[in-house]
Amino acid sequence: MEPTGYETAHRQAECIFRQILPSCGMAVREGQIQLCHTMLDALFARDIALCDAGVGLGKTYAYLVAAILWMQQRALPLRQPVVISTASIALQDAILNEYIPFLSETLLRNGLIGSPIQTVLRKGKGRFACDLRLLQRQREVAQRGEKFARRLRVLQNVDACLDLDRVQGLTGYDRRRICVPERCEKGCAARNRCRYRRYLRKAEHDPIQIQVCNHNYLLADAIHRQNGWKPLLRDYSAILIDEAHKLPEVNQQMQTRSLRVADLQDLANRLARENLVHGAQQLKRAIHLLVAAFAVGPTERTDCAPFDPQEKQTAALKQLLHLLPASFQQHCGKLATSIRQEIQRTVQLTQRFLVQDAQWIRYVEYAVGPDTTRRFAALHAVPADLPSCLDAALWSQGKPAILASGTLAAGGDFSNTRRLLGLEHGVPVRTLQVASPFDYAHNCLLVFPKTNSRWKCAASGNRKIASQLCNLIKAAHGHTLVLFTSYEQMGEVYESLKETMDIPILQARRGSQTVVEQFKRCNNAVLLAGGPCWEGVDFPGDMVSLLVIVRLPFPVPDPVREAHRQNYPDLHSYIQTEIVPEMQQKLRQGFGRAIRTETDSCAVAILDPRAAPGGRYHQAVLNALPDGIPVTTKIEDIEPFLRAHKSPDYFLPNFDFN
Ligand code: SF4
Repeated sequence: MEPTGYETAHRQAECIFRQILPSCGMAVREGQIQLCHTMLDALFARDIALCDAGVGLGKTYAYLVAAILWMQQRALPLRQPVVISTASIALQDAILNEYIPFLSETLLRNGLIGSPIQTVLRKGKGRFACDLRLLQRQREVAQRGEKFARRLRVLQNVDACLDLDRVQGLTGYDRRRICVPERCEKGCAARNRCRYRRYLRKAEHDPIQIQVCNHNYLLADAIHRQNGWKPLLRDYSAILIDEAHKLPEVNQQMQTRSLRVADLQDLANRLARENLVHGAQQLKRAIHLLVAAFAVGPTERTDCAPFDPQEKQTAALKQLLHLLPASFQQHCGKLATSIRQEIQRTVQLTQRFLVQDAQWIRYVEYAVGPDTTRRFAALHAVPADLPSCLDAALWSQGKPAILASGTLAAGGDFSNTRRLLGLEHGVPVRTLQVASPFDYAHNCLLVFPKTNSRWKCAASGNRKIASQLCNLIKAAHGHTLVLFTSYEQMGEVYESLKETMDIPILQARRGSQTVVEQFKRCNNAVLLAGGPCWEGVDFPGDMVSLLVIVRLPFPVPDPVREAHRQNYPDLHSYIQTEIVPEMQQKLRQGFGRAIRTETDSCAVAILDPRAAPGGRYHQAVLNALPDGIPVTTKIEDIEPFLRAHKSPDYFLPNFDFN
C-alpha cells in the first residue's frame, strides 16, 4: 500500500536529520528529531504546538523542515505559503540568509524538493525607502555643503539598499524623511519603476513558499483581516512563530490604544500646513490645557499611573473632544484623507477616556525630561482581556501554528504561556519541552555568593554589590557579563567598579549595540548590561565565562499588572500564578547567555539573596534552570572550576586585577 503523505513526511524527516544533515557535519540530536515530528503532527492535525526547545537544539531547522515537508504533501490548490514570525531582525537575517539557503540547496541536491525554496521578507512601509522622497532628501542635504558630506554618503548608500534596517548610520530623522509614506502620492511619476513597488509586486505575486515577518507585522495583518481591510500578508496556510515568548508583549503593544501628546502636536502642525491656522491654534490650546491638567509635581518619580481623572482632567479631555469634530465638520471637504482619519481616530480615543468601561485598563504615561522631571506624555487604554484578543486575531482562524522558543515553559509547566497566549481553552494545543543537548552538569557552576539581604535597597547596597562583583571578576579572571534589571543601579555599580578595577569595564545601555560589539572584540573585558542583553545576544567561547545576575528579573509593577492582580483572591496566588513564572522565563533567557556551544563553560553567579539556599525563591530558581548543575556558595570555587575547563591562555595576565 502507498504510504500516506503523513507517513512520507515523517520518513523524510528521519532521513534529513539522521543522514542528510549529518553528512553536512551536523550532529544527530534526538531532541531535534522529536521536535520536528511533533511539529509535523501538529501541522497535519491543524493543531497548535507549543515547543520549548533548550539552547543549541536546532529548533529553527526542526520547524523549517517540518513546514517544507508538510507543504509538499498538501494538494496543489492548498499550497499557500507559510508565515514565519520572529521578534528580532537578527533571527530574520539568519533564517533568510543562512538557514533557508543552506536547507534549500541541501534538500534540492538530495532530491527531496524539486526547486529552490522561495522566500520574501515582509515588513511595514516605514522600513523601506521611497525613491522619490530619497531623491528629494539627497538634494536637500547636498545643498548644505561639506558639513553634511557624511550624512549624504549614508543617504547615497540607500540607493543600493531598499531595506532601511540594513543601512548603517541612518539618522532617525532621515529615516522618517525617506521611508515609504503611508499613502503614495497619487500621480507619483516613479510609481511603475520605484523599488518599493517592484518589491511589493514580487511579494504579492511571485511563487513564494515562506513569508518572513516580525510579530508586529503578523498581528497587524491579523487586525486588518479582522476589520475586513486589505491583508498585509499573502493568504497563508500555517504560522510558525519563533521567539514566541515575545508574542504576549507584542500583542499588548498592538492592542493598546494611545492618545499621545506628540501625535496631537503633529496633527496641529499638519492642520497649520493645510492653512487651517485657526483650527491649529485652537488644537494647540487644547493640548496645552491637557498637558497642564495631567502635570505632576517636580519630585514625582513614577513613569505611569492608573487613569483616575480629576475634574480638570475630564474638562480638558471634553474640550479636546468638543474641538475636534468641529474642525472635522467645518473643513471636511478640504482636508486630506489621512488628516480626516487622524481626527476621527483622536475623537474615538478621547471618548474612550471619558467613558468608564471595564473592558479596558487605562493609564497615564509620563516621559522623563532632560532635567529628570516627569512630563505628561500619553493616555493608554489596554484591553483587559489581552489573551482573548490574540485568540480572536490568530488562533480562531483555524490555521495550524507552531510556537517555538527556549523559554515557553516555566519550571516545566506551560500554564503561564498558555494563559498569556489565549490558549487555555478552545483550540487543541500540544506541548513539548526538549532539554538542551549541552552538558550543563559538567560545563556550568551555579554560585549563590553569601549576600547580606539588607543590601537590596540600602543606599550603600550598590557599592557593596560592586565590591562583591570585584571578587567574582577576579576569581573568573575577567570574561564577565553582569546582567542588571535596573539601569540606575547599573550606572552606580559601573561608577564604583571602574575606579577599582584595572580591566575594561563597559556598560551597555538601551540600544547600545556598539558597546556589545566592542565587548566581543576585546580579548578580556567586563560588560554590564540591562534589558536587551538578557536575550538574543550570543557570547560564544570564553568571552563570557562568568555570568552574574544581580537581581532576580521579576516583572516591574505597572497599572496593567495591578489591574490583573484584582482577578486573584490574594496576593500569594497572583505571585505564584503570574509573577514567579514570568521571573523564571526571564531568568532562563538571561541564563541562556552563559553557554552557547557544546564546548563553552561558564560559572553563573546569582547575587539576589532571595535566590540563595534558604531564600524564598531558591527552589523556583533551581526549577527554572537545567537539571544537575553543581551548586556552591563559595566564590573561591569559581577559579578551580575554570582551571579545569579553560586552556592555559585563558589565565594569561592580560590585566592587573588589584
Ligand atoms: S510610488 Fe510611493 S514609494 Fe514609490 S516612489 Fe512614489 S511615493 Fe515613493
